[in-house]
Amino acid sequence: MDAFIAETPFFTTEQRNLSISVAGFVGREIETRSVEEEQEGQETDASFRAYLKVLAEADLLRYAIAAPGGRIDVRSLCLIREALSYASPLADLAFVMQGLGTYPLSLAAPEHLRDFWLARASQGQAIAAFALTEEEAGSDVAGIKTTARLEGDAYIIDGSKRFISNAGLADFYTVFARTGTREDGRAELSAFVVGARMPGFSVRSRTEMLASHPIGEIEFKGCRVPAEDMIGREGDGFRLAMQTLDTFRASVGAAACGMAGRALDEAITYAKKRRQFGRALSEHQLIQEKLADMMTELDAARLLVYRAAYLKDAGVARVTREASEAKLFATEAAWRIVDSALQIHGGAGLVRGSRVERLYRDVRALRIYEGTSEIQKLVIASQLLQE
Ligand SMILES: Cc1cc2nc3c(=O)[nH]c(=O)nc-3n(C[C@H](O)[C@H](O)[C@H](O)COP(=O)(O)OP(=O)(O)OC[C@H]3O[C@@H](n4cnc5c(N)ncnc54)[C@H](O)[C@@H]3O)c2cc1C
Repeated sequence: MDAFIAETPFFTTEQRNLSISVAGFVGREIETRSVEEEQEGQETDASFRAYLKVLAEADLLRYAIAAPGGRIDVRSLCLIREALSYASPLADLAFVMQGLGTYPLSLAAPEHLRDFWLARASQGQAIAAFALTEEEAGSDVAGIKTTARLEGDAYIIDGSKRFISNAGLADFYTVFARTGTREDGRAELSAFVVGARMPGFSVRSRTEMLASHPIGEIEFKGCRVPAEDMIGREGDGFRLAMQTLDTFRASVGAAACGMAGRALDEAITYAKKRRQFGRALSEHQLIQEKLADMMTELDAARLLVYRAAYLKDAGVARVTREASEAKLFATEAAWRIVDSALQIHGGAGLVRGSRVERLYRDVRALRIYEGTSEIQKLVIASQLLQE
């Protein structure tokens, strides 16, 4: 077992056992597919679906999907994300999007929606998406322009969203739209479940990103959604979106740790093997310094991630600051660790398709999505100033 998991006090026996079985699963089912994913230039959607299938067969998706009321074991979520990201960030995406896209439903959707979508999502039969971001609403979601207006027994949704993971793959989208204006002039948001086949819904385009990631723009043109498909009540949208992001925030840090752990392992292997100036790179002290810094930063990141996850699981009322610290530090540290791993590889690290070159592209998005590093700093400071 990973010494960090065995020796730190954050985990139950069940979670430690889960980490062992997930490591075995990743070795058997994910690692080889991840190599093929790059070598054969497989299409992203096909790889994504293949990962989702094996995750469902191993009954792991249920760890991403919360029970009614939003109960979820955040430590298990983090352990699985870390293990998947070590081998394939795309497999991690297939796992976590089922959770992110369904969490508002677990929190507040009426029974008919939960029964229908949660069961399918946990069996990998339906793919979920979380649709919040728009052209004018990135960090500041109050800028949302997509509207939902009540007409008889349905809401009519008009507008568009961008940077929506799983656009074009998803069977259903949890969509946040403006249903009014609050007294302070900011948008009043509400959340809806929109099926991918509903008339008036379309995928406008797919967006090519730095790394393999199914993502794109979606559009609503007079899309008629039954009022009973609203999640929670009118005006609950902002709270549901923030609760979802708060719950999953530490797990983005866990994904970062998985990528950083892989980068460190690749760097150690390469530094021992590659010889320059008559000895292995690992015998040069400047390389040793890099490895020492990488290890220390990775340990610090994992401590912050699993502290936040532990506190959330322990039922601490607010872990906003801890979760933001975990996401901020782990994603920034992972970026530095992957960069050092690439530096240790020299030119070989830049070769397209090499593991560290892939990590270099994959790790970058983590500092941007689910709240940029700058926004995490604002959150941490505002919590401090309130305390
Ligand atoms: C790979 C990927 C997947 C994504 N998946 C999804 C998804 O599934 N669903 C979804 O809804 N969205 C998704 N997003 C969108 C993501 O959440 C946004 O990109 C993110 O919130 C930032 O918004 P923005 O890109 O519009 O940047 P902006 O908000 O325009 O920010 C630009 C820059 O300004 C900084 N900035 C903004 N405000 C402040 C401030 N007050 N003080 C200081 N600096 C500030 C930001 O930190 C950033 O550096 C995804 C994005 C990526 C890259």
